[in-house]
Amino acid sequence: MKRTAFDSEMEMFRDSARKFFQGEIAPHSERWREANIVDREAYLKAGEMGYLCIWMDEKYGGLGLKDFRYEQILIEENVFHGDRGFFFWLHSRLVAPYLEHFGTEEQKQRFYPGILSGEKILAIAMTEPDAGSDLSSMKTRAVEKDDHWVLNGSKTYISNGINADVVLVAARTHPEKSHGLTLFLVERGMEGFERGRNLKKMGLKSQDTSELFFHDVKIPKSNVLGQPHSGFHHLMQGLAEERLLGAIYNIAAARLAMQITKDFVRERRVFGKPLSTMQNTRFKLAALDTEIEVAQCWVDQLVARHNEGQLDAVDAARAKLYTSEVNGRMVDEGVQQHGGAGYMEEYPICLLYQDERVHRILAGTSEIMKEIIARSILDC
Ligand SMILES: Cc1cc2nc3c(=O)[nH]c(=O)nc-3n(C[C@H](O)[C@H](O)[C@H](O)COP(=O)(O)OP(=O)(O)OC[C@H]3O[C@@H](n4cnc5c(N)ncnc54)[C@H](O)[C@@H]3O)c2cc1C
Repeated sequence: MKRTAFDSEMEMFRDSARKFFQGEIAPHSERWREANIVDREAYLKAGEMGYLCIWMDEKYGGLGLKDFRYEQILIEENVFHGDRGFFFWLHSRLVAPYLEHFGTEEQKQRFYPGILSGEKILAIAMTEPDAGSDLSSMKTRAVEKDDHWVLNGSKTYISNGINADVVLVAARTHPEKSHGLTLFLVERGMEGFERGRNLKKMGLKSQDTSELFFHDVKIPKSNVLGQPHSGFHHLMQGLAEERLLGAIYNIAAARLAMQITKDFVRERRVFGKPLSTMQNTRFKLAALDTEIEVAQCWVDQLVARHNEGQLDAVDAARAKLYTSEVNGRMVDEGVQQHGGAGYMEEYPICLLYQDERVHRILAGTSEIMKEIIARSILDC
């Protein structure tokens, strides 16, 4: 179905973004997957193009493009033509907006230039070995001392964990309150801040996902983001947008898997006929195509609502839940339609299958999304 959500200026923006991801990102993908990390230069190149933090005000050097559809285009084009492990959107649209919403002017002046150029890569660290879905179990702590805080603890599964220069770390600062968290801007080179392993993963192999350790890290008060002890509420405010980003990504990945599978079944011959003429293939792909189209319309509508400041947190949870499940079904069926080839890494559907499994876990599991939705419909 032809999408109507984008005007001609946005289509031109999409064309340049496509060329960028095809020319500057895709050629390095295989090497990055082997190295388990994206080159830092990828961020610098994206920065040069103005693709990092496109929403940032012109007074800070940004393009001031507040319309969320630009972000949607960048994510889609990276999924279709770039490298899915290049988490520029986590830097640009997930972490940097916390500075925009809760940062002081001094923090913006200090951090924005490097964030915009790609010299300072961002990450966010909430998850710990014993605290993922349940952030109230967080053990990383910070204690206030004179003009600074002292941070101790560890985080795990942190995207951009190795490359990151500035990590937004959530730590417990109020022992009595289960949600008494504070957000800290922890910078590369601070004494006592160490990286652990770059973790070996099932998929998204070019993405550096790592452990982080904090041993008596002295954090100046000027690196506290937002109000002390209000970190949990600050994080909650970012979650709806984060889930919409996930939904945009998921449905783009499902569309890519559909395209790859369609191309394959038209070429592949079984029992003297193209696989695309078998009723099972036709019906399976027709059903998935319908799910993808419906989900795409809905995601586009949520983006429009977000542009009007009307994105509802429960709708974002529904979109994240549904699109990640559709994506999961699509990549699974894609592998099945490929037969043995679907299990071979030289076929792109195999990499998609590996990469996409995480999206029912990342940024809140499907079960947590169901809890959020159930709470809203059952009032308990
Ligand atoms: C590749 C990757 C990148 C990541 N990047 C980041 C990052 O950049 N920053 C960061 O902070 N974190 C990151 N994470 C962590 C991610 O957000 C967590 O893994 C996720 O929130 C789940 O937490 P958990 O792993 O502790 O699982 P758990 O919370 O232990 O969940 C285990 C199972 O229990 C289920 N469960 C939990 N609670 C309930 C409930 N109330 N009802 C029913 N079922 C429940 C879950 O759905 C799941 O099936 C990343 C994870 C991965 C895999």
